[in-house]
Amino acid sequence: MNIHEYQGKEILKQYGVAVPNGKVAFTVDEAVEAAKTLNSNVYVVKAQIHAGGRGKAGGVKIAKNLDEVRTYAQELLGKVLVTHQTGPEGKEVKRLLIEEGCDIKKEYYVGLVVDRKTNRVVMMASEEGGTEIEEVAEKTPEKIFKEVVDPAVGLQAFQARNLAFSINIPKKLINKAAKFMTALYQAFVDKDCSIAEINPLVVTGDGNVMALDAKLNFDSNALYRHPEILELRDLDEEDPKEIEASKYDLNYIALEGNIGCMVNGAGLAMATMDIIKHYGGDPANFLDVGGGATAEKVTAAFKLILSDENVKGIFINIFGGIMKCDVIASGVVEAARQVKLDRPLVVRLEGTNVELGKQILRGSGLNLVAAESMADGAQKIVSLVK
Ligand code: ADP
Ligand code: MG
Repeated sequence: MNIHEYQGKEILKQYGVAVPNGKVAFTVDEAVEAAKTLNSNVYVVKAQIHAGGRGKAGGVKIAKNLDEVRTYAQELLGKVLVTHQTGPEGKEVKRLLIEEGCDIKKEYYVGLVVDRKTNRVVMMASEEGGTEIEEVAEKTPEKIFKEVVDPAVGLQAFQARNLAFSINIPKKLINKAAKFMTALYQAFVDKDCSIAEINPLVVTGDGNVMALDAKLNFDSNALYRHPEILELRDLDEEDPKEIEASKYDLNYIALEGNIGCMVNGAGLAMATMDIIKHYGGDPANFLDVGGGATAEKVTAAFKLILSDENVKGIFINIFGGIMKCDVIASGVVEAARQVKLDRPLVVRLEGTNVELGKQILRGSGLNLVAAESMADGAQKIVSLVK
């Protein structure tokens, strides 16, 4: 789960990570009021969307007085911001962060991730802050320094100092930077983050080390123990189809193609997308209905796929193990009855109760194409949507 920058900064502040004073605003008036409470004569008006790259896209404005705050707030609220992380459709700005302008001496990068190779939390740091870290990783990987954290003892002070030295933090501020990193690590672990990225971390004119940006992602599987984090969820930032899917506990990810997929099991769902691609098609979604799906869940899944206007055809690929083919078949028939099925449907069933499942489909009068294998089904749906 993702949260907004201002929410991330609130959390980090509780752990002693220095951040500029700031306030969230939902309206232009609130933005001006927020600025009035700040102890500064330079204000930064920042679009709050669940995507980075806002600076380059015009989503971060420096205002020199309250009038400018008003002007920028008017300009940004309601605007659709397109950054390299939003996709071409962009994201509408509904919240702003109004914060104190900071006297930046230099920008750095600090990030924490769970590294799959070492199975540990890794802290990364770089002198190349403010820019995209992916670009640094690609062009000048030697400028990214890493410390692998032993979970038994946590991030050690020497590791933090190592990183601070490596990225050339001014000598006088090494200890401040190390404290910053330790606090960031503590927040990461306590809150079950999957990513914590501070880009930029800055050294200021008056000798402070601060987080000017904050991106925190949380492990969804750990949210049950963080109701305070769950409260920060902003449904406006999520795909409505994915929200609907989460109500039914369906693993659904919307994609750009035109072939809707309904599959059981994440592995088979991945393989199904691959084989569609292999035969020249493009999947419209990843959808794993799970092992113990009921007819009701299948109905919801089917409706979800059909609600996507880009979907020109559907491929159902089920291997009935725990999931029984007749349950899937009943769900499909039920859903097709509820929603007018006006697009080609290819079904490949295999496994438990497959004959019963096929019988239900045949007897339904639905206009569908049966497939003998995964490859056969993929080829059929690809040619049908062409
Ligand atoms: P994004 O990563 O989405 O582009 P950031 O929060 O990193 O957004 O802001 C982009 C840039 O704007 C920063 O690299 C920094 O130079 C500047 N900036 C952001 N917040 C402030 C602030 N409070 N004071 C001064 N400059 C800021
Ligand atoms: Mg940033």
